[in-house]
Amino acid sequence: MVLAADALTVDVAVVGLGPGGEALATRLAQAGLSVAGIESRLVGGECPYYACVPTKAMIRAADVLAEARRVPDFAGTAEVHADWGKVAARVREEITDNWDDQVAVDRLVAAGVEVVRGRARITARGELDVDGRVVRARRGIVLNPGTDPAVPPVPGLADTPLWTNREAVKATVVPESLIVIGGGPVGCEFAQVFSRFGAKVTLLQSNERLLPGDEPESGALLAERFAAEHILVKTGVKITSAAHDGQRFTLELDGQDPVSAAQVLVAAGRRSDLGALGIGVYGLDESGRGVTVDKHLRAADGLWAIGDITGEGAFTHMSMYQATIAADDILGVDNPGAVYRAVPRVTFTDPEIGSVGLTEAAARDKGLNVRTGIAQISSSTRGFLHKADGVIKLIEDADRGVLVGATSAGPTGGEVLGALVVAVHAQVPVDELRRMIYAYPTFHRAIETALADLRS
Ligand SMILES: Cc1cc2nc3c(=O)[nH]c(=O)nc-3n(C[C@H](O)[C@H](O)[C@H](O)COP(=O)(O)OP(=O)(O)OC[C@H]3O[C@@H](n4cnc5c(N)ncnc54)[C@H](O)[C@@H]3O)c2cc1C
Repeated sequence: MVLAADALTVDVAVVGLGPGGEALATRLAQAGLSVAGIESRLVGGECPYYACVPTKAMIRAADVLAEARRVPDFAGTAEVHADWGKVAARVREEITDNWDDQVAVDRLVAAGVEVVRGRARITARGELDVDGRVVRARRGIVLNPGTDPAVPPVPGLADTPLWTNREAVKATVVPESLIVIGGGPVGCEFAQVFSRFGAKVTLLQSNERLLPGDEPESGALLAERFAAEHILVKTGVKITSAAHDGQRFTLELDGQDPVSAAQVLVAAGRRSDLGALGIGVYGLDESGRGVTVDKHLRAADGLWAIGDITGEGAFTHMSMYQATIAADDILGVDNPGAVYRAVPRVTFTDPEIGSVGLTEAAARDKGLNVRTGIAQISSSTRGFLHKADGVIKLIEDADRGVLVGATSAGPTGGEVLGALVVAVHAQVPVDELRRMIYAYPTFHRAIETALADLRS
């Protein structure tokens, strides 16, 4: 029985405290609203504990190893001994506080947010049940529940002791061999990390190429590097069954020999359970993969949604961007609303793959008059000096003379991307980009070469 005294009434209830929810709850509380922040797992969400931050710490360590192994190419000799124990300890102690969110909770409480632990479900408009406690929100509810790792419906797979990203970031030893299921950003990042720390990695990808959301040039570049690093990539693969015999995993493949390894890591997309959130109360479809929102992040009257579930890009920067707009809407601050033409995406592999806006294929599908320009990083002075591969690819809407998409793949590709994000977001005329001065000899100078290459 729920006692009336247990009920909590606030101005705004935030369901799920991912990066955006945390920022939004803080902002609203600091603006003087009463705010309940409801979290069933860890305050901060996936990013700081299981995703962006620990994986980038692992990648940093793997990159240092790879760089040290290149000493013979440039500077003499070096003996490199990989020690995963250092990485695991850093992730546990420095990065995730041993998967403890007390610091984040304290920060929210100090900002004036009432933190409620538990799983929220909408029971009526402006009303939630949080594990038996009623939370009422006078002004409205903001949903920021994120997504969970999806396990593909392969017979037997869900019964094995597989890893998703949540187990992989907790790994205390590197498996002798690893099968990674999924060739998107997450699968590719993990594959390279564990391979560089000594695992024999096989990557299985159902699509015909790696990073299918990016330009084909990016997938090809990464496939080439993976081959050089002895990561076995199998594309166009269909897994028909999975088993674990207590020691090893074996996956049967359609029309190919089975593959086997000491560990399986599934990085095959994300799922959400909208039914469990109870959004049907607002007349919204619970069977879909996401919540449809307008440019102010409104899903219904008195209901906002931000982050992965809006389907505008599953990134921390998207969650935070949307949080600002939703908070403005709730506080009545003038804001023209979300603009998604220049969403940046970075896969932190080596080479690092950054992209923004439309791919060439997406631009053509939209019926734009497309011109593309390509420059190889290896042909640039900096690329030659570094003995580095990469590519800059530009997508121009020739009718308007502006870039609508771009890729920057190579050393620090995600950093070089910054210039291209400005160009796509601000719709800087291509003629203006051509008149700019690009520092010599930088990686970003290859943008100038790609601009000169723009053609139909
Ligand atoms: C391995 C990996 C690496 C990634 N790397 C990057 C990267 O480098 N850069 C980047 O920008 N993005 C990265 N991402 C994506 C990024 O983690 C997410 O986009 C980001 O966490 C934002 O998600 P979100 O705000 O929607 O919610 P989340 O971070 O998923 O948080 C949602 C929170 O809501 C809680 N919750 C859910 N339902 C309820 C409920 N009913 N009641 C109470 N609480 C609830 C959950 O417990 C969770 O803590 C990565 C993802 C993965 C898996």
